[in-house]
Amino acid sequence: MDIPLTPQSRALSHPALASRTPGEVPSISIVAPAYNEQEVLGEFHRRVTEVMAGLGCQYEIVLVNDGSRDNTLALMYALRERDPHISVVDLSRNFGKEIALSAGLDHTKGDVVVVLDSDLQDPPELIPQMLDIWREGYDVVYGMRTARDGETWFKKTTAKYFYRLIKSVSRVDIPKDTGDFRLMSRRAVAALSKLREEHRFMKGLFAWVGFPSSPFLYKRDPRAAGETKWNYWKLWNFALEGITSFTVAPLKVSTYLGMLIAVLALLYAVFVIWKALVYSDPVRGYPSLMTVVLFLGGVQLISVGLLGEYVGRIFNEVKRRPLYLVNRLLQSELPGTPALDKEQQ
Ligand code: UDP
Ligand code: MG
Repeated sequence: MDIPLTPQSRALSHPALASRTPGEVPSISIVAPAYNEQEVLGEFHRRVTEVMAGLGCQYEIVLVNDGSRDNTLALMYALRERDPHISVVDLSRNFGKEIALSAGLDHTKGDVVVVLDSDLQDPPELIPQMLDIWREGYDVVYGMRTARDGETWFKKTTAKYFYRLIKSVSRVDIPKDTGDFRLMSRRAVAALSKLREEHRFMKGLFAWVGFPSSPFLYKRDPRAAGETKWNYWKLWNFALEGITSFTVAPLKVSTYLGMLIAVLALLYAVFVIWKALVYSDPVRGYPSLMTVVLFLGGVQLISVGLLGEYVGRIFNEVKRRPLYLVNRLLQSELPGTPALDKEQQ
């Protein structure tokens, strides 16, 4: 039966239904994790403040110190003294960017939350345009990179293939060329804060939450100053995290590989027996025996290692440790209670 779509049903299915009143000015929380960013923090504050002043709305800047070893924390406190818009969340040690970001999100109070890298790779000047898209009714406006200046050819290529791979093996659709730079409505942040897993592949978690989302094309700038905290070993682990937290497909691969090898081994056994019967082979075949034993041993070790990756993650998750610990918290003067406190009440 053909059910005709009515104008009402069409309207209901469009995000613009939730359309915020035109020109509505929400309160905004900016979240920025920082690890050894003393060179850029001042500039970051200056640029964000300039943009926020232009918007003329209520706002706060939640700076998360992720166990920095330089003067980042002292700088944050100095900024907080001069500017009551700033919240400082000082974590008890370095927890890594993903968790630092979650800690920041937990302490936001605004109607709308914007995630920025404190190294100024995500231009804060784009926030007004992202807000315009939010006003159309979207819950999530995520930055999609058109250019990746200051990154090596190798990093760009591996990133590209990683996103293709993850897209083909996982059921959650993770948009490509998308980082953490995004604007989220309060309900999207609340949904995200319910996901407390320790292995946090943020891009995947963002995608899991869903809600009406719209991409926003932008050019990713090179770092303003300081150094990237990534190296290839970290990137490899990040990729592993992404795959193992969002799909069990690799486990299936080892099953099928095992089956394939078993079938091949069976065929080979038939061949060996046939040869022995027809030619009454005297004892030979050490090389072929070694090849088979070594190959099977290798495949088995890989499969066990793969299982280990998942078991290790289960081990970490069942401990149910808190995601992070806060050493000291200075709240901004934006009215409201942080998301986390509301949850605990
Ligand atoms: N960062 C963090 N904790 C870490 C590593 C990085 O909070 O353990 C922050 C860092 O200060 C920066 C952001 O995460 O604001 C992105 O890190 P980075 O610029 O090193 O990564 P890239 O932009 O090169 O991917
Ligand atoms: Mg960066």
